[in-house]
Amino acid sequence: MRLLILGGTGDAAELSAKVANISGIEAIASLAGRTREPILPSGNFRVGGFGGAAGLAEYLHQMQIDVLIDATHPFASQISLNAATAAHEVGIPHLMLIRPPWEKVAGDRWIEVDSTSAAADVVENQAKRVFLTVGRQELAAFAHLQDIWFLMRMIDPPAADALVPPGMILCDRGPFTLTQEKELLIQNHIDTIVSKNSGGNATYAKIIAARKLGIQVVMVKRPPVPDAEQVANVDAAVAWLREKL
Ligand code: NAP
Repeated sequence: MRLLILGGTGDAAELSAKVANISGIEAIASLAGRTREPILPSGNFRVGGFGGAAGLAEYLHQMQIDVLIDATHPFASQISLNAATAAHEVGIPHLMLIRPPWEKVAGDRWIEVDSTSAAADVVENQAKRVFLTVGRQELAAFAHLQDIWFLMRMIDPPAADALVPPGMILCDRGPFTLTQEKELLIQNHIDTIVSKNSGGNATYAKIIAARKLGIQVVMVKRPPVPDAEQVANVDAAVAWLREKL
């Protein structure tokens, strides 16, 4: 059975490693090619866009892919839409591996918003020193906020000509510990965190740290997902695959 895993997440890498040990499955993992030094999946992989839903459908057809698992990030909505369209067109089973969003618990001071530009509006009125963790590609939405200081954490630095708000860039990759996150927030006198509701454990420590320190979090809600079969973790995706063998 030939499987294409759309990746770019820790879950996708873990899934690639697990299916490598299942006889009867030949997997190819696909990365968009955004990060300079990606964590490469075990086994076969390819890098770069397909050319929209039509390009992906063509790839599925040409490579004789039998099953598609979309294990991309919950905020990577274009590729997920393309995956649903292409799998439907080619007529192959399609599963979304999508970790559950974080839920607000007692002590959390969240302001939930629908987009990064809505997050920028909240920050403009309510913050002075912000820990911005929405990724390199979303910095421009905050660039006009010249009276606010930002600590911006991302995997790779922004392009030289990118619009970036004032502050400091910190290039680092999770997982992060609670101790690390608390220190970062305290040392930089952070009053507000801006985060996507990514879910999972790798970047959750900052949310716990904010709760413990009483810091507000502007939480960007997830975009809608296409209508597709879904599982919430890697083991459930493996079980789904075994049923297809
Ligand atoms: P996106 O907006 O949904 O996708 C934009 C285009 O990038 C797609 O149309 C596709 O190009 C290409 N692409 C995306 N993921 C791909 C993959 N796994 N393999 C091949 N091509 C892919 O995606 P994005 O938000 O820029 O995210 C890019 C990658 O980074 C994803 O793989 C995602 O899992 C990962 N990531 C995203 C975030 C986030 O916050 N968005 C966070 C962590 C990791 P074509 O149309 O040419 O096929």
